[in-house]
Amino acid sequence: MKICMLAAENGSIPGAKIGGLGDVVRDIPRALAGIGHEMVHEIDVVMPGYQRFAESTGAETQPPLKVRFRGETLQVAVSQLRDEDSGVRCRLLDHPLFAVGGPGRIYCNDPPERPFASDASKFALFGAAACQLLAEDRLGEVDVIHLHDWHAAFAAMLIRFDPRYALLGDARLVVTIHNLAMQGIRPFAHDDSSLDAWFPGLNFKRKAIADPRYPDSFNPLRAAINLCDKVHTVSPAYAREIRKSNQPEIGFHGGEGLERDLQRAHRAGRLSGILNGCEYGEPDLALPSSEELFDAARQQVFHWLGDGPQVESAHFIALERLAQWRERPPAHWITSISRLTPQKTALFEVAMGNDRTCLENILAELPPDHVFVLLGSGDAEIEGFFTHCAARYGNFLFLKGYSEPLSQTIYAIGSLFLMPSSFEPCGIGQMLAMRSGQPCLAHRVGGLKDTIENNVDGFTFTGRDQTHQAAAFVRKFRQALSLKRRSPGRWEDICRAAAARRFSWENSAREYCLQLYGGLTVKSEARSDLL
Ligand code: ADP
Repeated sequence: MKICMLAAENGSIPGAKIGGLGDVVRDIPRALAGIGHEMVHEIDVVMPGYQRFAESTGAETQPPLKVRFRGETLQVAVSQLRDEDSGVRCRLLDHPLFAVGGPGRIYCNDPPERPFASDASKFALFGAAACQLLAEDRLGEVDVIHLHDWHAAFAAMLIRFDPRYALLGDARLVVTIHNLAMQGIRPFAHDDSSLDAWFPGLNFKRKAIADPRYPDSFNPLRAAINLCDKVHTVSPAYAREIRKSNQPEIGFHGGEGLERDLQRAHRAGRLSGILNGCEYGEPDLALPSSEELFDAARQQVFHWLGDGPQVESAHFIALERLAQWRERPPAHWITSISRLTPQKTALFEVAMGNDRTCLENILAELPPDHVFVLLGSGDAEIEGFFTHCAARYGNFLFLKGYSEPLSQTIYAIGSLFLMPSSFEPCGIGQMLAMRSGQPCLAHRVGGLKDTIENNVDGFTFTGRDQTHQAAAFVRKFRQALSLKRRSPGRWEDICRAAAARRFSWENSAREYCLQLYGGLTVKSEARSDLL
């Protein structure tokens, strides 16, 4: 079986990962290759090079592609990286449009009045270029074309509606939803970032690809859900949640407007929830010292400072805090590592009855020798909220930025990892923390529900709305700290149970073959009745 994956991120290339999508695109191809010749023969990943990653060592240039886009023929560069251990190949497609936010920048923050405008044009060209690559047989005949999230979804639409790519429809089309909250919606026409502008004259079936809330707009993720043979999401619990409607009044995230399509996919047996895995190498037994974390954090903050023309207040406060703590190093680290988006952090900001936010209540619960360190970046407003708290609370360190080496030290040093996500398709952060023997305190939703067993290998909370969830979060935090203080033996058992959990990529890879790739005897049998 030959599989080709299309994705925006890939953690196997330094700098080409933003979140869990990058972890999955790094790990699942290796796991699929690892389950051997009985099922998978070859696996290729195709992604944009963002005018940076083709410079990676070992990248080999291949002949460019000619791609029809916006009524012109564009030249798209191609290069290849090969992972010698697994044999997985990564094709990097490149064009100046892929670096619209600057070289190496994967996503742009488009202004709220033009959401996804730059990214959608970039990924529309990526989809067209990937189809061209496949149609020219540059990867040989592939059995499965596996799309990751809305960024890759344009390929499904072109394969189904552009006669030049119709033959690619003989392969099985699979889409993985890593996060349903991001759908890449753009107008059908009258905008330079619209379906008509990218692919003029395309004869598409509107009812399969229009957004249900904005009928004048094209929804790439909905298109992939309706046009692919199989729809996959990254945990069984999330696969159930997304078949229900959102309930904003209680903070419930379900199908994000696409629940009817997902219900239809479920009824047709096209929807699967398969849990992501985690890499387990040799355990690193050495616990980093506080000194090591101080040094790593200080060095990283200096690098971030060097990236901008002015001193950012978050970095200044972080350096001050690190200097204070160096004098009296904390004994216990409560930790969190996350993109800063409402999905991940809304509960921290909930105002509670005592005129304090949930985060302030969490900080008030900390015994004197405990501190809370948060590594993350994202929405400017959320960064502002954490910076404001960091300036006022001496037991809180906010490291505003992205750093994989620092994240590794924080996973290793932490005593308790906080993950109060409002919804969570799978979540990799909790798996990485557990791998280091750090139990998690998490909201019992989506993949967090499928990976953490309350009071056995971690702690979970739930509540009927955001206010109750925030109260339950603080309550559970208090209980967890009390257990740690009063019953060190039980606490150790929980840490050991967390470290012993195994979320195996090999199992996931086998389930991919069974549930998504279907042994490949059956072809395209179940597509949506909207076609
Ligand atoms: P999501 O994909 O929604 O961002 P996940 O928990 O699935 O959330 O995956 C997050 C991944 O990104 C983890 O590997 C985590 O360690 C990493 N990560 C998130 N924020 C940062 C950061 N600021 N610095 C380093 N790694 C980060």
